[in-house]
Amino acid sequence: MELEGKIVKGIAGFYYVNCLTETGEKLYECRAKGIFRKDKIKPLVGDNALIQVTSEEKGLGNIQKILPRKNRLIRPEVANIDQALIIFAMAEPQPNLNLLDRFLVMMEMQGIDTAICFNKLDIVTKEEEGRLLAAYEKCASKVLFVSSRENIGMDKICQLLEGRTSVLAGPSGVGKSSIVNYMQPLAAMETGKISEKIGRGKNTTRHSQLIYVKENTYIMDTPGFSSLDIPELKENDLWKYYPEFVPLEPSCRFRGCSHIKEPDCGVKRALEKGQISKVRYHNYVTLYQEL
Ligand code: ZN
Repeated sequence: MELEGKIVKGIAGFYYVNCLTETGEKLYECRAKGIFRKDKIKPLVGDNALIQVTSEEKGLGNIQKILPRKNRLIRPEVANIDQALIIFAMAEPQPNLNLLDRFLVMMEMQGIDTAICFNKLDIVTKEEEGRLLAAYEKCASKVLFVSSRENIGMDKICQLLEGRTSVLAGPSGVGKSSIVNYMQPLAAMETGKISEKIGRGKNTTRHSQLIYVKENTYIMDTPGFSSLDIPELKENDLWKYYPEFVPLEPSCRFRGCSHIKEPDCGVKRALEKGQISKVRYHNYVTLYQEL
């Protein structure tokens, strides 16, 4: 029997493929020897694959073919990602917006749509919400304000994730895990199911894996991060990854304008008029100097 499914986890030469069968979702433990020999492809978490079931009873199979990839992320290493959802707290801890901007640049460089979710809406003022919205509405596909504790706006996250494969990232202490848990009580079960199969208990959470939420909906919970290096980026290209700067660049007097010291710069004009955020611009300058 041949089935199509999605690789949700790879560990020590085994791949766990989630397939929609007549009786519902089922996880198969697969090897991929033929793929290495034939196509010289290393299967990745997120790959859609055809598998040959070798034991229905034990849930075993072989990966026959990796279907064409839409994209491939380097960090975390995963294929076919539709979007990244970056989660920050609005307070407690104070959001490190420099870190947020680095993350946005990194995703923009990899061509991944990014949405931002600001959590802990219940402990900040309306003004603070407005400030963050003004700074970020032009540089993410969506900006959501939620409170996982008070259950405010959580349905908007569900809507955003539905039918897509999303990477969830954010520093520690922002409530990311409570959002993951809200997303799917099944998530914990899913992790348990895989752990049971490979007998490693809690260790499995260290490896990147996709969590099945519902049909065609997967999330990848990435470990908390505290710093992000942006590799292989030239300082003069940095502005290209600030979506709100891009339409302003043609109005700069100089080609190759860094938008920092040059006179008659479209970006700086927009900054003075308050059309782009001071925070974003300040972080741009910091990152430019670092590069
Ligand atoms: Zn400029």
